[in-house]
Amino acid sequence: MEGGYVNEEDSDAIMGVESPAIISYTNPKLQIPLMASAIYAPTTTSTAVTPTSATAATSKNASACASACASASLSSPPGASSAAIAGGGGGGPLQGFVTKLRNFRFDNTKNIRKRFHFDYISKDRFLGGQLKTKNGQKYVFNGHPSGVYVSKACLIIAAFITVVALISTIGITYFVTRQGLTPKEVTPSCITSDHSDVNATPIQTAGWVSMNSPPPPPLTTPTPSPTPTSTTPTTTTTLSPSTTRATPRPELKMVDPKVGDIPEVPPSVDVEDNSTKPTNRPLKLYEGWRPLHYSLLIEPSVEASASNGSLTIEIERDVAKVTSWEPIVLDVHNISISNVRVIRAPLSKQANNGSEEQELEFDSDYGDDNATFVISLDKALAEETQLKLLLSLDFISQVTDTLQGVYKTSYINPDTRKEEWVISTQFSPIDARRAFPCFDRPDMKANFSVSIVRSNQYKMALSNMPKSHSSRYRRGYVRDDFMTTPKMPTYLVAFIVSNMVDSRYAALDSEMSPRVEIWTRPTFVDMTHYAYKMVRKFLPYYEDYFGVKNKLPKIDLVSVPDFGFGAMENWGLITFRDSALLVPEDQELASSSEHMQYVAQIIAHELAHQWFGNLVTPKWWDDLWLKEGFACYMSYKALEHSHPEFQIMDTLTTLEFKESMEHDADNTSHAISFDVRSTNDVRRIFDPISYSKGTILLRMLNSIVGDVAFRSATRDLLKKYAYENMDRDDLWAILTQHGHAEGTLPKDLNVKEIMDSWITQPGYPVVTVERRGMDLALRQERYLLPSKNPADLSSWFIPITFETEGLHKGDNIPSHWMRSQDEEDLIVTNVFASSNNSENVVYLNLNRQGYYRVNYDMTSWLALKRKFGSLPTITRAQLLDDALHLSQAEYLSYDIPLTFLMELYNAVSDELLWSAAKPGLNYLINNLKREPAYETFRAFMKFIVTPAFDHYGLNEPDNESHLQLKHRALVAYFACKFNYDRCTQVAQRKFRDWMKDPKKNPIKPNLKSVIYCTALAEGSSAEWYFAYKQYKKTTSASEKEEILTSLGCTTKPWLLSKYLNMTINPTSGILKQDGALAFRTVASNAIGHEIAFDFLQSNIKEIAEYYGDGFSTLSEMIKSLTIYMNKDYHKHQLLDLADTCRKLGLKAVESAIVLALEQVSNNIHWHSHSYHSLKSFLEGIVSEFEINIF
Ligand SMILES: [Zn+2]
Repeated sequence: MEGGYVNEEDSDAIMGVESPAIISYTNPKLQIPLMASAIYAPTTTSTAVTPTSATAATSKNASACASACASASLSSPPGASSAAIAGGGGGGPLQGFVTKLRNFRFDNTKNIRKRFHFDYISKDRFLGGQLKTKNGQKYVFNGHPSGVYVSKACLIIAAFITVVALISTIGITYFVTRQGLTPKEVTPSCITSDHSDVNATPIQTAGWVSMNSPPPPPLTTPTPSPTPTSTTPTTTTTLSPSTTRATPRPELKMVDPKVGDIPEVPPSVDVEDNSTKPTNRPLKLYEGWRPLHYSLLIEPSVEASASNGSLTIEIERDVAKVTSWEPIVLDVHNISISNVRVIRAPLSKQANNGSEEQELEFDSDYGDDNATFVISLDKALAEETQLKLLLSLDFISQVTDTLQGVYKTSYINPDTRKEEWVISTQFSPIDARRAFPCFDRPDMKANFSVSIVRSNQYKMALSNMPKSHSSRYRRGYVRDDFMTTPKMPTYLVAFIVSNMVDSRYAALDSEMSPRVEIWTRPTFVDMTHYAYKMVRKFLPYYEDYFGVKNKLPKIDLVSVPDFGFGAMENWGLITFRDSALLVPEDQELASSSEHMQYVAQIIAHELAHQWFGNLVTPKWWDDLWLKEGFACYMSYKALEHSHPEFQIMDTLTTLEFKESMEHDADNTSHAISFDVRSTNDVRRIFDPISYSKGTILLRMLNSIVGDVAFRSATRDLLKKYAYENMDRDDLWAILTQHGHAEGTLPKDLNVKEIMDSWITQPGYPVVTVERRGMDLALRQERYLLPSKNPADLSSWFIPITFETEGLHKGDNIPSHWMRSQDEEDLIVTNVFASSNNSENVVYLNLNRQGYYRVNYDMTSWLALKRKFGSLPTITRAQLLDDALHLSQAEYLSYDIPLTFLMELYNAVSDELLWSAAKPGLNYLINNLKREPAYETFRAFMKFIVTPAFDHYGLNEPDNESHLQLKHRALVAYFACKFNYDRCTQVAQRKFRDWMKDPKKNPIKPNLKSVIYCTALAEGSSAEWYFAYKQYKKTTSASEKEEILTSLGCTTKPWLLSKYLNMTINPTSGILKQDGALAFRTVASNAIGHEIAFDFLQSNIKEIAEYYGDGFSTLSEMIKSLTIYMNKDYHKHQLLDLADTCRKLGLKAVESAIVLALEQVSNNIHWHSHSYHSLKSFLEGIVSEFEINIF
């Protein structure tokens, strides 16, 4: 029965001969049997109903005509289509129920059942006691479940590796000691020559000085070397220590590596923990000099875990901000520098014949914490305000394994079964300084000429620009020179060295400009088609929308085997984690529609950055939200344009609002733009406030000035600040100008005045609506958890839009404004035609364009509830989400959101309403899960989700729309979450079918997440080990993520513990990029929560070192711990953890702990203030409706 509530196959599997027809609900008053199959299930002959009309029911068009639709549906005959029910309003046999439901109010109802005449037949009756195959426990796993994980072979190999590593360490230690005592400087090439190539050419000084010329003769000018034992190409330079101050700094010793030609840089005493331990350092802005051009030659080595390089930076004096004589300050992190030279630049490039070079004398030293390298020139030059210099140096930097800076990662080549290494980079936000000395801040834009030296065992090297030249560097080594980039900041520089392959799009699609190529491991080439298709759609859209052509001649997209972020917008070389780029087309591995949307959106986001962020860059990290907000918002626009069927703007109103409001509701939230002063600050600002709130605020601005003005302002901004930096005031000015020109922005308002209140303070408002005769009185207050705080006087400049039954506005441009300085209520006059208007609805914040919640007076809430079916789709979703969250913070009692929740019972196909319910419901699930009231809550929710699950089931018919596929998965998520056995048992059976034949996974992509998690939660160790085996085996990154998440669903404590330990074991196959995800899945499991806490407390030092500080993995772990913490002793546990962190010097996690403490306090408050009233309401419903609580 296609599209039916449970198809025959599933019914039989669970209940033998049970027939759907006996699941009936009887309304004795109406005397109409409410047969689920008749109402909800389109039969096989009515398949047309499902994809088309159901989609229409949830679309924006449907909302526009919702009134008319609803009145039509109320007069529909019995047996109306599911679309009519979903659209709104319910019709036919449900009419009486829906009407009464919407008039229902708990606080004045004594006998609900009598009023509703509603009878629910318990599952025991309709299942007829035939639950013969109740669970998966009896299933005997027919295979070799655990041998793979800790096989004998594994142990032997691991032991062998350990022995080899031990011997190597002893050898290296010996060599370090020996070299440390040797007075002679050693060059990287000398070391190389011991091993591979006696004719090796020493690495040259990069750049303008000697990049393309033979090594210069020995210098006669004194050349200070900051590191007494660091490298100096002895054939080219000599040390002259006399002019350099003796500098107490880390002693970086050169060692002879076993393989390769780059010496390893063992950590020195001073810097030993810097590479891995999360640290916090002030980010001081040094003015006085700015870079113009970097010439970088770098030779990264996997074997030595180091890069050997040389660098020339063309620098000019910058007296715009400071006129005093300042030293040149370069940012560095764990970098050893030698052979520093400072040369007065010739007046012009043509004069570059060496004759005009003038070596300058200087002092150099590492700065505080070895975080800078400072070059002080003779003060006699202070008079020269036009000074231009060439600073050249050699350096050794680290190749990390913490996914930051230049880092290494590997994969197993399935053909050779050998490990293949990849060198990749992640410089954003502040890790270019780990790769080479630089002015590492976004406003120090420069041109970059990058050259990479690679062993010829690596077949490819990529960087931001196309390759201009490749040549033999020395025996076994190739040098690739890349064209010079346009002016850009350091955080966008990128390169990759590997054996990955291209997908031949550039060769086959010659019409495409710029040249686009997708690189991945050879086995994944077939998974890149979807990504290319998306690029093909989005690039022309952006070029048209922005009115600016893409600036670079090529864009490479690369899936990197282990990648900390989702993706990174490096100009011309966009890097992705596998799951953000690859979409398998193979039926077995196919991705869910949600995953495909995610991939499309990430690609759209990164491409938008090629304009916003890359071409025009915010001046400083405090405006990070501008580039991220624009990239996110533009990705929605691009998707709306190319895939209107996704109805992606509706998703924005649930997804982005959830992300932002959840993080913006606490006292610990921060303004979207705050004073970024330290490394911690800059990492912390990459959070949902910058991304999601940024998106929402830009969309709000778009609605304020209208589409035409917004687009024109965007175009102007990109043209005016191309290759330069801008800040938000520049955007405000341009938007104001276009808003006034279009007449959308009142002449007495400017955008800065409006936006300052949203940008400079944390949080968001609740607008309270009160009817006063024919008028509305509006006032605002801050939405705050755990409860409203009258002492908080924050206020915002709020755009007001509203509609009534008689007024349909037709656009989103505000009709009224609440000004932040107003102390009086805003009175909106003549909203209703008469004072007798309690039956009339009014709703605010149309299409959720404004970043605020709305709280109505009781008359308005009741009117909205009564006419729920006639409201626009987005408004319905808004009401449910707002009501749930207003109750969470005690602005509203729980009877209102509970009655809106009951609408889900009826709105079977309203995808947006279900999505909107998810965040509020998850909060309740988490806070009730370990409480007695969960039993009642679960029963209530199971009752609510039953009709929808019975309609959709766990079988996907072919040709369902994107939205339907997503919606079915969401309904199943709730049904299984609330233990509706029709869901849990079918899920288990499907999983067992897969276990019987592992090569043929019968589970449809969209349902994998719910089926895997349910099967592992309900099943035994066999299911868990099977899943883990499939994790290691699958080539699909999205499949890996699905399984990773489900491994944390098990209820077996020892498996949860084992899983956590695997996250810090590199041989487990769990990548570092996924560590926080794996941890979170255990911490969000009611049984796993305490195990996760224990694991973190016991292993915190090891975790901090394993993950480094690039992606705040440890902070993410701490934040995910609080889900179930709602008791006072939990606070003490967190304080103990804070103490441990303090003792270990883990300062970077302090803010995460403060946030966690705040969340626990909020949970405690909710528990003591709201738990009991919610419990009473739930018990009232369950009792009156005689809902079976089992
Ligand atoms: Zn971004």
